[in-house]
Amino acid sequence: MTRCAACHIPLPAGTDLHACAPCLDRLRGMLAEIPQHLPLLALLLAPTAAQRTPGASAPTGRAHSPLPLRLDVVNLLGPGHAVQLPDPHGDQDTTVPIRSLLHGWAAYVASQYPTIHYDAHGTVHITLGTTARSRFGTGPAAWCHWLTAYLPFAAGHDWIGDLYQQIDHAVRLLRSKTDRQPRRVPRSAPCPACDVFGLVSTEGEQLIACEACGHRLTADQYRAHSAAVLPALTRLAVLLRDDRDTTRKAS
Ligand SMILES: [Zn+2]
Ligand SMILES: [Zn+2]
Repeated sequence: MTRCAACHIPLPAGTDLHACAPCLDRLRGMLAEIPQHLPLLALLLAPTAAQRTPGASAPTGRAHSPLPLRLDVVNLLGPGHAVQLPDPHGDQDTTVPIRSLLHGWAAYVASQYPTIHYDAHGTVHITLGTTARSRFGTGPAAWCHWLTAYLPFAAGHDWIGDLYQQIDHAVRLLRSKTDRQPRRVPRSAPCPACDVFGLVSTEGEQLIACEACGHRLTADQYRAHSAAVLPALTRLAVLLRDDRDTTRKAS
């Protein structure tokens, strides 16, 4: 049985994919979200007065001038390596900058992409590997667009699990810096898998997910499910309300 390389749920028998539709949908949403954080992150580059002088009662005098930039933000926006470098002494920031992460993955996906050409005698040659190029430039937004376009190809390889985990980690890091959280809307119907009222729609994602058990539904599946269960639940709620009102009047 093949399992989704990202969330590990079993995939349909006979599939060539290594990721389930919900994880691909979420990956698509995260790649669309990353560029929205970058202008906010750029605004955070300059430290606030409080960040420049932590602790108003701190003793005056220091060995060097305070840095004019926030290093945690520079580490995300600046140049760097696409993979974490060894840190044997534990004294380095191992954050992979956003552009390096995205471009590194684009380069890797391109390296796995088969290219086909015919020689002068008409023989077909298939070789692996090409170079990633985006007509939108070389910035993070361009690579997000490029990776989104190649997700169907990436979904056919087990390394899509690593792509998912690393993009997920980067998005969580960006959210923690910019405080921009995707808007979440709780849905009325209970989860069909665990019966808990935990279904939530999240901005940028097509699927509705249960926060209690992780079960996910498409919009069509949710519509059919809510049409099946909500009328009965509404009737039950009205009966309970009437019963409570009657009890209150009697007392
Ligand atoms: Zn999955
Ligand atoms: Zn659930």
